Amino acid sequence: MRAFWEPEVETLPRPQLESLQLERLRQQVERLWRTSAFFREKWAGVNLELRHLEDLSRFPLVTKAELRAEQQAHPPLGRYTGVEAQSWREYHPSSGTTGFPVGTVWSEGDVENITQVTARVLYGYGLRPGDILLNGFSYGLWVAGLAVHYAARAMGLFVLPVGAGQTERHLELMERFRPQALTATPSFGLYLGEALRARGLESPLRVGAFGGEAGTENPSTRRRLEEALGLQAYDFYGLAEMGPTFAGECQAKAGLHFAEDHYLVEVVDPESQEPLPEGEVGVLVLTHLTRQATPLVRYYTGDLARLTKEPCPCGRTHLRAVGGIPGRVDDLVVYRGAKFYPGQVEEVVRRFPELAGEYRIEVREAGGLVQGVTVVVEMAHPGVGEGLVEALRQSLKAALGVTPEVRLEAPGTLERTAFKAKRVVRHAQA
Ligand SMILES: [Zn+2]
Repeated sequence: MRAFWEPEVETLPRPQLESLQLERLRQQVERLWRTSAFFREKWAGVNLELRHLEDLSRFPLVTKAELRAEQQAHPPLGRYTGVEAQSWREYHPSSGTTGFPVGTVWSEGDVENITQVTARVLYGYGLRPGDILLNGFSYGLWVAGLAVHYAARAMGLFVLPVGAGQTERHLELMERFRPQALTATPSFGLYLGEALRARGLESPLRVGAFGGEAGTENPSTRRRLEEALGLQAYDFYGLAEMGPTFAGECQAKAGLHFAEDHYLVEVVDPESQEPLPEGEVGVLVLTHLTRQATPLVRYYTGDLARLTKEPCPCGRTHLRAVGGIPGRVDDLVVYRGAKFYPGQVEEVVRRFPELAGEYRIEVREAGGLVQGVTVVVEMAHPGVGEGLVEALRQSLKAALGVTPEVRLEAPGTLERTAFKAKRVVRHAQA
């Protein structure tokens, strides 16, 4: 059996991969200049000639706020839909947790590319025809559930389309069909692990693909997922505006490989917005190379990443975000000169078996400055001693360079979510 889903493109030598990207980028820019009033306005005065991929840095970034304003001014989807409405096949909005949801549509060609790219990632986790997949990603408006469903069908898997939440259904389907693979958010994966243990059930799973929120590549989170569910846990990345599932780890667990034949990947400095050299942490900026409907050029995702083009032991040539997505640029906490992200707190909290692994970071602000930070954690079982609080404070101090307060709560106190747990809570102090 072949080692890759699309062997030729996944192992394309980088010079050829980059010339393919340049050719597709030129076509996309030329097409949008012709068809999109939104991009024509945005690119007024910009030299559109692309001799090298780096020339794209002359183009302005596109933000979510801008897309929201565009879709509100020109309903339903703004002036960058790319293809005639007769060619629209599916609508998928962003989650809308931060305001009016930004809508995305897929054409028939887009659905096909999304299916193939998703299958590429699932195949990379080791799934093969005949395997049984419990798809715990939400079905419906959210992008990932349907993308995984289409890909599973295309690969010849047997898919159990249970969707997000519904713990009892997951357990029943696991008992009845013994699926080898699960797709879910890492939060739900951990929750499912707790549910299995509480009922004394054994997990049939061998592969877990965890996406929809960051954390899978956090070493202590990955260890918890693997132990609780008895599987190999892999990270899976996507976002509504760009596509559901266009980056995933390989079995080397060496970072997220992006599907670079469909996406151009950059990292920029959050302050200057200038491109950063390979290896530096910055904000991911993504460009659709092949998307027909609602295509975006230089979308500022707000997600952080550190890229490498170094060869991967798996043989794929597509670049990787090492360590996955450590957080969002908005979740940065600046406190007494130290800067840290929720992922760093999570890594420390989940090292302690006496803790449940859930956490919240309470930030007290006044006059635009952080006055205090409290990390709220939960006991795994009642009666965990005060000594633990001090041990956790010391570990946090070592990891963050600053010592937050720690508050210990009773088991089950912190909210469990199946989707995008909110970790940083900011309070204004009088
Ligand atoms: Zn690899």
